[in-house]
Amino acid sequence: MNPLYPAIAACPACHGRLEWDAGGAGCRCTVCARVYAIVDGVAWMRLDAAGAPLWPAAPPSPPPASARRRLLAATTPPDFAYKTGRSQRRIPLFVEQLGPDATILNLGSGRTTFGARVVNLDIGPFRAVDVVAVGERLPVQAASLDGVITQGVLEHVPDLPATLAEIDRVLRPGGLVYHEAPFIQGFHASPNDFRRFTAVGMAELAPGYEVLEQGVAVGPGSALMWVASEYLALLCSGRNERLLKVGRRAFPWLLSPLKLTDAWLEGHPQADLIASAFYMVARKRVS
Ligand SMILES: [Zn+2]
Repeated sequence: MNPLYPAIAACPACHGRLEWDAGGAGCRCTVCARVYAIVDGVAWMRLDAAGAPLWPAAPPSPPPASARRRLLAATTPPDFAYKTGRSQRRIPLFVEQLGPDATILNLGSGRTTFGARVVNLDIGPFRAVDVVAVGERLPVQAASLDGVITQGVLEHVPDLPATLAEIDRVLRPGGLVYHEAPFIQGFHASPNDFRRFTAVGMAELAPGYEVLEQGVAVGPGSALMWVASEYLALLCSGRNERLLKVGRRAFPWLLSPLKLTDAWLEGHPQADLIASAFYMVARKRVS
């Protein structure tokens, strides 16, 4: 677990401070007495529908290796999003801008890591995740963070207003948010894919914040590759589910050169017409 987390941690149910077990096996809320598990260095701070702490289930055993599995792994389609060099540097620059003493939360971190000052939080214990929790109930003290990152997350949270309110609660006045969210992308991460954002719509994600920077995170070439691959897979499948699966693996390979055009198109002044994703950096006002 990132050693920065205990200093900013709070009960996701009541925002009470936590007492940390010296043995590192769990923590207990000093207000409501809920007890949360810490397993393999990951703090489990999710609640079930009844509001009780969710304890981790035993991890499923990996499926046995087979020729079919090896073939599937070898033909995994290329990523639809082409991250140009400039695009890849954006979050490391955001982290650097906040300074060497900043405490930053990567909400929905997945498998990404951005250094020692960033606490990684996600809904499951993916690689490098420090805290398992949901965006609508952040287990973090109010005004304790200098920065919050969301990358490809806001389209997936069931309750967007609640998540944005939580980000606002945990961010200190003057703190920064980095949001990156899709505009033209296919339906993904089924079933939890709820919405898309235009460039104009993104500014609505942080009402009352001062927008410092906004732009294209993933360009139109990636958007076209994604949409055209799915289109051709649908067209050629003849409504046959197996053919559709094959097409969804094959066409991204065939069309992947399209995304390379983003090296040029990403910086086009009108790229926001059909960009794959946008980003925004905004500052919480000091009032
Ligand atoms: Zn509590």
